[in-house]
Amino acid sequence: MTCLNKRYASLMNKVLDGDATVKERNELFAHLATCDSCDRHFKELKRSTEILNHLAHPQLSADFTKNVLEQLPAEKQHVLREWTARHPVIATAAICVVPMSLLFVAAGRQNSMPKRHGEDSYILVNQTGSRN
Ligand SMILES: [Zn+2]
Repeated sequence: MTCLNKRYASLMNKVLDGDATVKERNELFAHLATCDSCDRHFKELKRSTEILNHLAHPQLSADFTKNVLEQLPAEKQHVLREWTARHPVIATAAICVVPMSLLFVAAGRQNSMPKRHGEDSYILVNQTGSRN
């Protein structure tokens, strides 16, 4: 920076920080239009500021969302364990529904099996008779 007017150096910082008034901005840009040295310096400062802002607010990596999603199932398992601890009756009932429904399915299959009519009806009548 060969320009001797130090005022513009501090104005550049004010403008880049967003602290400059409209009047100060206009003053700086009017000077930059006439001073190559300050214009070059301002562009360098602006670029450095943009890089710094980018570093201060880094872009999330492409893997970020994937990594978060991969951690979700473990979290869900934890929630399920907490829920079953808080509602043991409902959890037990829910667990019992599975084998019970399997029993019903098995029983339904047996009933739908073709019967040998003579033998089956004989056994059925015999059992009811012995209970009474
Ligand atoms: Zn200048």
